[in-house]
Amino acid sequence: MTDNAQLEASSVLAWITLNGFVNEYNKPIEFVNHRFMIDYMTDDAPTVITRKAAQVGMTVAETLRGIHEAVFEKRNIAHTLQTSDVIKGFVAPKVNPIISYNPKIQELMTVDSESLKGFGGNFIYYRGAQAESQAINITIDTLNIDEMDRSNQKIVEIYKSRLDASTNPRIRYFSNPSAIGFGVDGLYQQSDQRHWFVKCRHCDHSSFIDWQPSDELNHYVDVDKGIYACGKCGKEISDRDRINGEWITKYPDRKIHGYWISQLMVPTISAQQILEKQMTSSTEYFYNFVLGKAYTPTDLIVNREKILRACSPSEIPKVQVAIGVDNGVVKHWVAGTPQGIFDYGKTESWEDIERLLLMYNATVVIDANPYPNIPKQLVEKYKGRVFINYYKRDTKNLGIVMWREGKEYGVVSADRTKIFDLVANEIADSRILFRQTPHKLEDYISHWGNIYRTVEVDARGLERGVWIVQEGKPDHWAHATCYMRIALSRQLGSSMGTGFVEPLTGGGKPKSDIINSEGQLVMDLSEQVEEALSGDNKGADWKYQ
Ligand SMILES: [Zn+2]
Repeated sequence: MTDNAQLEASSVLAWITLNGFVNEYNKPIEFVNHRFMIDYMTDDAPTVITRKAAQVGMTVAETLRGIHEAVFEKRNIAHTLQTSDVIKGFVAPKVNPIISYNPKIQELMTVDSESLKGFGGNFIYYRGAQAESQAINITIDTLNIDEMDRSNQKIVEIYKSRLDASTNPRIRYFSNPSAIGFGVDGLYQQSDQRHWFVKCRHCDHSSFIDWQPSDELNHYVDVDKGIYACGKCGKEISDRDRINGEWITKYPDRKIHGYWISQLMVPTISAQQILEKQMTSSTEYFYNFVLGKAYTPTDLIVNREKILRACSPSEIPKVQVAIGVDNGVVKHWVAGTPQGIFDYGKTESWEDIERLLLMYNATVVIDANPYPNIPKQLVEKYKGRVFINYYKRDTKNLGIVMWREGKEYGVVSADRTKIFDLVANEIADSRILFRQTPHKLEDYISHWGNIYRTVEVDARGLERGVWIVQEGKPDHWAHATCYMRIALSRQLGSSMGTGFVEPLTGGGKPKSDIINSEGQLVMDLSEQVEEALSGDNKGADWKYQ
């Protein structure tokens, strides 16, 4: 073996540089402006977490590293993505061009199918982290969990088990973060927390760059001057200073390696550009995708503090009772009235649910899946009082909830994100009250603690909110609360005509909910005005799954 060949075999960086590899746009891959990637690329620790901004070159880096591991280390690799269509979303636009623009890589490839690339006797599997069927039947040595925070966490766990047979397993999580303490942010907090330190040429002060100044004397974006500014002397941090940073580990004793990569570290992105992004995007997007930091809007956190603040124990009249039921072998239910939630529980028997319905003369909304048969019978038996719900994304901005008519009477479809947002808001504002004593709410509170809200960006670059449950953790009473809230809107709408204000009593200022002539729960009148103007108000194409 020549010296170069040895070097290429032992170092992915040498391999890329000596061969002059290009990226998916046929542009040279350079490490001058991406010096922060050098240590990352050569980090072979068993577990590496990266909390990252968008467009920092990570995907290309991991694609090449995967190929290097397969060719020179004889490892099998799985690279998983959030998307269900890995081919269209990743292999076709990213992996295939990298291979075809680099003939040296193409020569090494022995198997080239859409989601599988073979190099000698080893393979790279590109798979979605959405369906269980995609995770079976593979044994791997390296697992790349791409877009960890927006992947199905249960499937991520299954992929991890595919490393069990490996003598030297490596797992790398990288993702735009989401809510504080969840997903990749939660993992980063447990890691050794590497920060990219940049030295000020004026005063020699060395620190990381963040959006705002803080007690830590970190560098920051000076909004008035439009520059990166030193956390100590306030003078400008130049692009050259940023290029020449170094990784500093906050907790060197910890085993898990964690990197935080923000766009503020990328020398080709100016402070002015960061300011423009801050002005033109939502706070969530700016934190998650530009700063590479977690963010949770405070009015969308449902935690112990918020629930206990909305806790006002007392006996309330059991009139206009609404019950929500989360379907499953074990059925979780929540019961409330306009004056608050007064009870919750679980049972394995549909008869218990029926008994509750009769006892309170309640309106009941039941999750249709995964066992729709008995709920459908209940819909027939108690027409107008029992409804089954299918979560259905409201792509046309028609409202949160749509009650079906005609042949579909008894079916309701709700936008999952919007109903969760509404309920979270109402709990945060104490407009949904809890009438039990705090100690009786412990189990209920734990379910809300397992679910969090974040934003994801679709292929067209559009942001949308999404509620994600943590891996293997129950969230049934949170869902049951949403179904209860849907049932309550029916209770109030049907008993009080077409318009009602302040569906739930409590603190905070009134916020009007209305039910329109088609029986939909609508939050904001501007949506209706828009619909009226566009003439698109039928919703006839809403199909439930
Ligand atoms: Zn300075």
